[in-house]
Amino acid sequence: MSGLTRSACEARDAADPLARFRDRFDLPAGLVYLDGNSLGAAPRATAARLEAVVRREWGGDLIRSWVANGWIDLPVRVGDKIARLVGAAPGEVIVADSTSVNLFKLLAAAVAMRPGRKTVLTEDGNFPTDVYVAQGLLGLLGGRVVLRRADAARLVDAIDDDTAVVMLTHVDYRSGRVHDLAAVTAAAHAKGALILWDLSHSTGAVPVALGAAGADLAVGCGYKYLNGGPGAPAFLYVARRHQDAARQPLSGWMGHARPFDFEDDYRPHAGIIRQLCGTPSVLAIAALEEGVDILLEADMAALRAKSVALTSLFIDLVDQECAGLGFAVASPREAARRGSQVALTHAHGYAIVQALIGRGVIGDFRTPDILRFGFAPLYVRHVDVWDAVATLREIMVAEAWNRPEFHVRAAVT
Ligand SMILES: *Cc1c(COP(=O)(O)O)cnc(C)c1O
Repeated sequence: MSGLTRSACEARDAADPLARFRDRFDLPAGLVYLDGNSLGAAPRATAARLEAVVRREWGGDLIRSWVANGWIDLPVRVGDKIARLVGAAPGEVIVADSTSVNLFKLLAAAVAMRPGRKTVLTEDGNFPTDVYVAQGLLGLLGGRVVLRRADAARLVDAIDDDTAVVMLTHVDYRSGRVHDLAAVTAAAHAKGALILWDLSHSTGAVPVALGAAGADLAVGCGYKYLNGGPGAPAFLYVARRHQDAARQPLSGWMGHARPFDFEDDYRPHAGIIRQLCGTPSVLAIAALEEGVDILLEADMAALRAKSVALTSLFIDLVDQECAGLGFAVASPREAARRGSQVALTHAHGYAIVQALIGRGVIGDFRTPDILRFGFAPLYVRHVDVWDAVATLREIMVAEAWNRPEFHVRAAVT
């Protein structure tokens, strides 16, 4: 690998069919933002939308807005839009709660749909909240069902006749490794198990075809590649064929068949709406809709192609500029097995990430030694990749990371 230059990166940006989308986001000049897989950038349209919802709808129309301004339909309306990003049909996705809470609801529903089976299977190193939520749920079930973990490479072999649900994250949050969603789904079904996918690190950057794969259940995050804002509501998917059987335990009134009849007892709504619990967060879903709308204007194949180009460029440039500086690439080098992020390892990873942030290159650190860089294809440019690697090299060559302040651990890394 030799001879990649900054001007070659500029030429790629000039030819980029998605280049026009960068302008739709508020991004400070001079900042290289490689953390859109953790908190997506702010769409410029979001502030105006929120202003309109607050002043005109809430301020002017007040409670009439639930119907007059369509507030009550927001979870389904935005869910139907997200469905298009994950290969689901209208009525199979709804916006609600957080990813963690949605995992709880769907995992509980899934375990109940496989009575007599005693295990939930996940992989070693799955995202902590997924495991913690499973542990909390299984504790409530009194130990009737237990959590099993298997190495990702041997996961399919670990599915057996006792597996109620296989619960996996599609794109690994650390390495960016992508599961073969269709193949693992088929393997779960071959043993009579259900599959529950966490699409937090895929939706909006990696093509997902839930319907074509025959997937049962899924959850995903609103504030990463969907650019819905900090703590944005999440979404969940239930395949149409399971919707009458999927009973979730947070049986709040918004999932009731007739919430405004104020009946004494719970009766689940038909379809996806029973997956709601309480009143939808209107301001937050309005903000999420702005992020989703931009993604729907872009072609998913073009997004994936650019994402692959950016992550491949980053790996090539690290090989070219940072050889011998102590880094290893912890993500798959084969593009087809990689999501929209690249993980490097380095013994001084934490301090190096802090030094990069000090110079306006924002990635993040994941314990124990991972430097993680996300490449949101809507707004990251090829020159950003060049500048990030050039800065990384400078920091290493000058040992600029080795300062006391860069070793102090912050509350959020
Ligand atoms: C980001 C992420 C979450 C986030 O869960 P919250 O409930 O929003 O905190 C969950 N799972 C995975 C795999 C994630 O990447």
